Order: sequence, then structure tokens, then C-alpha cells
Amino acid sequence: MKPATCTRRIEFDAAHRVMGHEGKCRNLHGHRYAVEATFSATSLDPLGRVVDFGVIKERLGQWIDTNWDHTTILYDKDAALGKAIATETGQEIFYLPQNPTAENMADYLLHTICPELFGNLPIACLSLRLYETPNCYAESHI
Ligand SMILES: [Zn+2]
Repeated sequence: MKPATCTRRIEFDAAHRVMGHEGKCRNLHGHRYAVEATFSATSLDPLGRVVDFGVIKERLGQWIDTNWDHTTILYDKDAALGKAIATETGQEIFYLPQNPTAENMADYLLHTICPELFGNLPIACLSLRLYETPNCYAESHI
């Protein structure tokens, strides 16, 4: 029998834009994003869990709250815009190494952030969905 997986949903608000987009997404705009992170373990813990849902909230939820919630997420090549926003508002800009599409944001959380946050536990984040709107999400897999 394959062990169960568990999934936690985390929502946040942020602004972004997609450099080079053919349409409206090149404009700076915001979303109510949602992340659904799915974890697996080789075996369940003594209480019968992959991991306590609270641990996902404490680690991934805290990282998102600190780094992405109510921020502007930009491609690092978009630094001129970032500098203008930071100068005008004083807010921190979060720069991604790629365009901040839902696909790239999901990939960054799954492959860069989750291993840092959960590397000391016997679990792995298998897949991560990032909803840009209630109707649209991208999913990254290990
Ligand atoms: Zn967008």
C-alpha cells in the first residue's frame, strides 16, 4: 500500500507582472494567490500522519507570509520597475530568477524553498499548485 499524501492550502495577496507578456499581464497587477502543497512520507508517523498540518503552516505559511504576502514579485531583470516601486513606497520587492508566472512561482516554491524548509523532516513536497485565480493554476512536481 502506498502511504497517503497530505495537502495544505495557503492563501496570500501579491502584485506581479509578466515581462514580455503579449497582453494585460505585462501590467503591474495583483492576485489573491493560493498554494496547495502536497507532501508524502515513506511511512506515517506514530500518530498516523504524513506530517502535522500545523508544521506545513508554520514553515511554508510563515515563509510565504514573510516573503510574498502583500509584496510585489518581479523577475530580477525587472529591477528598474522594482527600484521605482521601492523608492516610492518603501516596500520590499521579491525578485525571482525567472518571470513570475504561476508556473515559475510554483517551481520556485517546490524546488528551492520547500527543500530548505522541510529538509530535516522525513517528508517531501511531491507537488505544488499555485492558483493565480480560482480558475487557473500551475502545478510543479518533483
Ligand atoms: Zn497575474
